Amino acid sequence: MAKRDYYEVLGVNRNASETEIKKAYRKNALKYHPDKNPGDKAAESQFKELSEAYAVLSDGQKRASYDQFGHAGVDGQNGGFSSGGFGGSPFEDIFGDIFGDIFGGGGSSRRGRGRRGDDLRYNLTISFEEAAFGVNTKIQIPRHQSCEPCAGSGAAKGSSPKTCPTCQGAGQVRYQQGFFSLTRPCPDCAGEGRVIDTPCPECRGAGKVRGKKTISLKIPAGVETGSRLKLSNEGEIGSQGGPPGDLYVVITVKDHLIFQREGQDVICETPISFIQASLGCDMEVPTLDGKIKIKVPAGTQSGKVLNLSGKGIPHLQGYGRGDQLVVLRVETPTKLTSRQKQLLEEFALEGGEEVHPMGKSFFDKVKEIFG
Ligand SMILES: [Zn+2]
Ligand SMILES: [Zn+2]
Repeated sequence: MAKRDYYEVLGVNRNASETEIKKAYRKNALKYHPDKNPGDKAAESQFKELSEAYAVLSDGQKRASYDQFGHAGVDGQNGGFSSGGFGGSPFEDIFGDIFGDIFGGGGSSRRGRGRRGDDLRYNLTISFEEAAFGVNTKIQIPRHQSCEPCAGSGAAKGSSPKTCPTCQGAGQVRYQQGFFSLTRPCPDCAGEGRVIDTPCPECRGAGKVRGKKTISLKIPAGVETGSRLKLSNEGEIGSQGGPPGDLYVVITVKDHLIFQREGQDVICETPISFIQASLGCDMEVPTLDGKIKIKVPAGTQSGKVLNLSGKGIPHLQGYGRGDQLVVLRVETPTKLTSRQKQLLEEFALEGGEEVHPMGKSFFDKVKEIFG
């Protein structure tokens, strides 16, 4: 479907001033706002179209780009709008700017005024093993709580908040601007619709106090640094009857002394002596489940990786575990005794280059290149 011209959507001409654009938007948005037309799909799409047009034409830079290039000049810049949804940031800006004072409650409903509490973030550091297998823990969140002595009302014992005489409880007062009768938050009650004569001494009338909430957390197996757990409604409490915010727990996993993580796999670099590597051996290696025995085959080269299937980290969503990768590092002996040196020299004389096939092949190539 071809997009309508933004000026046409707002019903203004192309030279319209900022004020004219804003006025046109207010007038139309008031008519098509979803709150005024519940369930009316046509009104909803009209409203979206209006908001999109306003988001562009009210922004000098976007408007200039639109004037020059049309829709192509601004498409994809409008976040929530171009993907067809509400909730993009331009929408919220406009909503706060324009509807904050038009739809703030209008005298009948108190619902609209409640402000949702803030979201909170808590940084939690856990061990490598806890991340691998999950852990139950408790955290203490500093946040506001409803004041107990006044049950959140803010009024001292024996009294209660009164309806604000200035706005008769509406939280809004009307005023005239040109042809329009508009409302703004009541100055005497700060939009609350009620006033407190005798404030609660505990919270000084705020209805909430700072406190700490202890929350039990179940960290699932398989989380990693940066994993985020959302706990709905565990954020700051709302004001004026609004819902609480959410709590986000953000995980940091401590480094492990000998394990590294790569996705669901655990990597463990394990040193072995050149004698073990040459002759092969049985050895014990550490895993997340404790030590297990593995077989190192004779003639193992440094850097060889042995795969221990299913010994890695459980998948966060789903079943099964990753693997443990044992990376063998052949260690060259140092601080040899003279007897050891003598034995190695004898060993070299005995073996010649046939026992070092990689070295032989390498030096054959060098000879080919340099003669
Ligand atoms: Zn008032
Ligand atoms: Zn109180």
